[in-house]
Amino acid sequence: MAEKDYYKILGVEKSANEDEIKRAFRKLAHEHHPDKGGKEEKFKEVNEAYQVLGDKEKRSRYDQFGSADGPQGFPGGFGGAGFDPSQFGDLGDIFGSFFGGGGGGRQRARPRGEDIHVDTTMSFKESVFGVSKDVPLSKQSTCERCAGNGGEPGSKMKTCDACKGKGFTTATQRTILGSVQVRHECNECHGRGEKPEKVCTTCHGSGIVHARKTIRVDIPAGVEDGMQVRVRGEGESIGMQGEPGDLYLNLHISSDPRFEREGSTIYSSKKIGFTQAALGDSVEVDTVDGVVTMKIPPGTQNGDELRLKGKGVVSGRSGNRGDQIVVMKVITPTKIDRKTRELLEEANLRES
Ligand SMILES: [Zn+2]
Ligand SMILES: [Zn+2]
Repeated sequence: MAEKDYYKILGVEKSANEDEIKRAFRKLAHEHHPDKGGKEEKFKEVNEAYQVLGDKEKRSRYDQFGSADGPQGFPGGFGGAGFDPSQFGDLGDIFGSFFGGGGGGRQRARPRGEDIHVDTTMSFKESVFGVSKDVPLSKQSTCERCAGNGGEPGSKMKTCDACKGKGFTTATQRTILGSVQVRHECNECHGRGEKPEKVCTTCHGSGIVHARKTIRVDIPAGVEDGMQVRVRGEGESIGMQGEPGDLYLNLHISSDPRFEREGSTIYSSKKIGFTQAALGDSVEVDTVDGVVTMKIPPGTQNGDELRLKGKGVVSGRSGNRGDQIVVMKVITPTKIDRKTRELLEEANLRES
């Protein structure tokens, strides 16, 4: 990746200053943003170029080693990092301040709808393997008739009278530093600068409706009790006034009397007879995958731990499953018939 010419990608001179680079990036990112119909490949490339040129240190390293240098040559290792999806989030912020009225200075964060929190109970086994849950919600959602745009389908858009199409209104505010011009998003058109000629008959122009909606949430394998799963944008919608909130699923995992979990390891116990412990045997053991046959070696002691490979829980990074540890509970007989007694006594004599 490092052999790409980042200056060319951003369309700036090698001598470009920070501001010029930033401006070029914003323009291109806007053009190629996937949400706005752009190509994701191109968008990533622009983003990648800006990750380097927009950072003083990385840029100087890049300048030093030149664009033709191999991807491994950088001690900072920015070249091979691949695309980080969280960058989309950062871009959202950049766009927020970019479209929010510009003009420099700090921008008020765009309003967001409320988050929704829902409790979900799942079985121990579901927590090990992951599960899809249908979550019924009754909430403010984007109006389907107008796709949230507030206009009756087929209705044309016209310039907003209140802001004359600018999308914002200006007011003068007195502060300790003197009078400051402040821009407010236009209330009439919510910053769009235009309004539909005919408002949507379902939502009356707000772009939102209260509706029941069932959302399928995929809960990944290996979750633990008390964890949360976030579904972006499935909270309350506030239509054109801002971003929808998020949906949070609070996970509750029912306990299973057969299993206990510690990280990626599952613990269980197995009762075995005194003779099985002494002579060894094959026994059936419950696992989350079903019943398996396990070999007990001769001379097994009470409390010995036998390992079943790969019968545990997926561990975060590797994606591999941990093990199940089966703790042996040797049951010593309380009643012994005469013949067994004699044999045991004989064995006891040999041992001592
Ligand atoms: Zn307006
Ligand atoms: Zn509508």
